[in-house]
Amino acid sequence: MAEIIDGKKIAADIRSSLKQRIEELKKTRGRTPGIVVILVGNDPASQIYVRNKKRACEEVGISSRVHQLPETVTQGALVSIIEGYNNDPEVDGILVQLPLPEQISEEQIQNAIDPRKDVDGFHLLNEGALFSGRSGVLSCTPQGIIELIRSTGTEIEGKHAVVVGRSTIVGKPVAMMLLENNATVTICHSRTPDLADKCADADILVVATGQPELIGADHVKEGAVVIDVGTNRVGDSLVGDVDFEAVSEKAGYITPVPGGVGPMTIAMLLANTVDSYERGH
Ligand code: NDP
Repeated sequence: MAEIIDGKKIAADIRSSLKQRIEELKKTRGRTPGIVVILVGNDPASQIYVRNKKRACEEVGISSRVHQLPETVTQGALVSIIEGYNNDPEVDGILVQLPLPEQISEEQIQNAIDPRKDVDGFHLLNEGALFSGRSGVLSCTPQGIIELIRSTGTEIEGKHAVVVGRSTIVGKPVAMMLLENNATVTICHSRTPDLADKCADADILVVATGQPELIGADHVKEGAVVIDVGTNRVGDSLVGDVDFEAVSEKAGYITPVPGGVGPMTIAMLLANTVDSYERGH
């Protein structure tokens, strides 16, 4: 029976050590770390995400400001606002809540943020740094996944890691991070034949497809570490991309949904903000 990887608890431990780190740093810096979250429009889901991020920031001692803009804001106006925060020495992290309205290019907005303050890690320079093995800001969900794998005590080096999904926000970056940690990495996607056979060879299996319970016991090697990134609304419940009941019988470690990867994403956002504050800009 698999051991459950308690993402909620691991994220809470990270937040508590960040809180202590901020207390220490404040003594020498004379200010608290600061993040600005830019929210465009009135999307209810985005409002909830922003509220949760703000609450998490306050809990660890990061001062957070929500800059609310109307749905009709222009690309130029949004870029000027970002540039203002790029030059504000009290702001260590800038986050633009996605999705953005049609008239705005998400890519151009991500790239308008000073890469040192890009706490989401979506700036092209930060993505490029990861792919070329240089240091940069790592994006939050993949970084959280690596922390969850490490929490099991599993040595990543030398393992066969299979990542199912090749999106820019999860699949590709987590595959690169596993490679940086010296795993042998296979990336699978919707055109991969014999998915079950490929997954069943994985010591570490990361699934980010958005397909409810795609991965069953047949896809999993005995004793594997299984990280389920999927968050799928099915009826009233939230289910992952992994059939939790069936796979738990076979895996060595498994993340639940909810309570696995989700809480780690915000914890890593806070960690990126504190890193930026400590590094200076
Ligand atoms: P995308 O839709 O961008 O990418 C999905 C990937 O899965 C694609 O590469 C796709 O392949 C692949 N895929 C789809 N169906 C299959 C299949 N049947 N077999 C194999 N591969 C398949 O999704 P995201 O990466 O953005 O997100 C994935 C999941 O993770 C979602 O449920 C999302 O909600 C969740 N998520 C959770 C986060 C958290 O913090 N907990 C953060 C981010 C995402 P192809 O490229 O060929 O189309």
